[in-house]
Amino acid sequence: MNLKIAIIGSGPSAFYTAQSLLKHNSDYEIDIIERLFSPYGLIRYGVAPDHQSTKNVSRVFDRVLNNPNVEFFGGVDVNTSPTIDEIMNIYDSVVVATGMTKDKDLGINKKNISGYYGATEFVNWYNGHPEFRDLNPNLNIETAVIIGNGNVAIDCARILASSSIELENTDISNYALKILKNSSLKTVHIIGRRGPLDAKFTTVEIREMDELIDCDSILAKGTKNNIDKNLLNDDLPKQYRILTSFNENKPENSAKFKTAEFNFHLSPIELLGRNEVSGIKFKNNLSSEDNPIIINAGLVISAIGYQGEIIPGLKSDDSGKLIHNNNKVKDRLYSAGWIARGPTGVIGTNKHDGANVASLIDRDIKTKNSPGRQELKNILNKKNIRYISKEDWFIINQAEINNAKKESPRLKFTSYGEVFKLLDSL
Ligand code: NAP
Repeated sequence: MNLKIAIIGSGPSAFYTAQSLLKHNSDYEIDIIERLFSPYGLIRYGVAPDHQSTKNVSRVFDRVLNNPNVEFFGGVDVNTSPTIDEIMNIYDSVVVATGMTKDKDLGINKKNISGYYGATEFVNWYNGHPEFRDLNPNLNIETAVIIGNGNVAIDCARILASSSIELENTDISNYALKILKNSSLKTVHIIGRRGPLDAKFTTVEIREMDELIDCDSILAKGTKNNIDKNLLNDDLPKQYRILTSFNENKPENSAKFKTAEFNFHLSPIELLGRNEVSGIKFKNNLSSEDNPIIINAGLVISAIGYQGEIIPGLKSDDSGKLIHNNNKVKDRLYSAGWIARGPTGVIGTNKHDGANVASLIDRDIKTKNSPGRQELKNILNKKNIRYISKEDWFIINQAEINNAKKESPRLKFTSYGEVFKLLDSL
């Protein structure tokens, strides 16, 4: 009898784990259980739509999914039903690879004011995530503020600063493209609480800001004066050389409509506005005096890192990381990726986690004659949960590719209704 393994989540860490497990033993029966109707997690809903080359890793994951021993159960949420305990009862081993899906709390007032979003909301919105398609941010504004100096912040800034030509041939959701196309946005401020040489942007991302068709990237006035000149030498990592080469003024007679301004040493203290955001107040971290700085803006996005969701029945720390020991949560239960490690690293970083978890499972696993897949199907049927199988996903995937316009790689389905309509029409 084949050993039965369930992986909860279907992002990069889930697929790298499945890939490594099959390298250990090609007879493992692996079920990938996912809350959404589509696999690939962050590849589909996190990676920016204009970064198609990063998304190409999904071809590796396609090969894993195509393995006859691997099945997909989309639309199955372990936060509600079936629970982790129910899944543990029917599989020999279970891996939790659910990522980090919430925003770290900025700790300021008025979290529910309209026009203020966490990066997960904004990113999921433009990427067509079914739970965020109705976010509908008002972009009939002049100024946006992005808080954070990481790659997520710069992704949000770049999408806002891009022209429609730059976005048209991507897989951005069509509703987001429409709103971005009609936007009156002129200025995007990207805010760091420390200095430019502490920013976490990587080279490609900062260079892209300098290459936008309709946007000039500049530093806030005075930025260069505040940098220790001894540090500005040839040893400075590339991303900082590019960032500090930006001008402090928009070029005179620039034909570019938009401006992305990088501001530093500012910590947010208060969102302004009654029902809608009208601006944000910052503490100037270079000043010992109480002279806050206000930036008026109709959109504020907090991109200061992610947090894990609590999974019923499992223990997490304050950041939402599962409590585990070298990826082992308890007997027969493992964790991989951001939910185990925290929200850092690039997609390939998850390879190591996957390989480690696969080695542990391969070492520990003993069959309990678990029923696995067939019993999961029975439970889902009994609970009237309509799941998306691997074959269903292949149909959805092909339809998205067929529906794409011009050079765009796919036109994503963004609701269960659309997906079920497609599947029911066959
Ligand atoms: P990140 O790289 O950790 O950046 C978080 C940023 O938020 C930092 O600048 C941090 O400043 C700032 N911050 C944290 N708490 C704050 C607070 N209370 N107030 C103001 N600022 C605050 O996280 P991320 O941007 O979410 O990215 C997560 C991971 O995904 C990273 O490893 C990233 O490289 C990766 N990623 C990669 C790509 C890509 O390769 N294109 C795209 C997206 C994400 P301090 O430094 O001062 O703490």
